[in-house]
Amino acid sequence: MITRELLRAIRNDLPMKLTLTRLGHHGPRSKEFEGYFRFQCPHCDELRATVNPKNNLAHCFSCGQNTNNIDLLMLLGHDFVPAVTILRNWLEQYRRDLGQEKASVDSDSPATVAS
Ligand SMILES: [Zn+2]
Repeated sequence: MITRELLRAIRNDLPMKLTLTRLGHHGPRSKEFEGYFRFQCPHCDELRATVNPKNNLAHCFSCGQNTNNIDLLMLLGHDFVPAVTILRNWLEQYRRDLGQEKASVDSDSPATVAS
């Protein structure tokens, strides 16, 4: 089931850098530049889509379009539901990894929705 909370978590909590790393050669070209993570904008093809670490949204400084994780996968040709399914898996993996690193810290964040 796709909930609003799941969509929010995919957009905000799954780092776009991780999404791009996971996409590998299936995704756009990317690079770190002066502490910012940039990738090839799916709208204009310039390597100027820059991830804002505050809201995990990529803003393209060439065409001005914003791209989030879900937009990105859909622009790469996935339909909405498969895109969300892929990203949910990556988010769950990411949260598991995070949990193992930080042990029992963030108790205020919702528990991983295991099924
Ligand atoms: Zn662009």
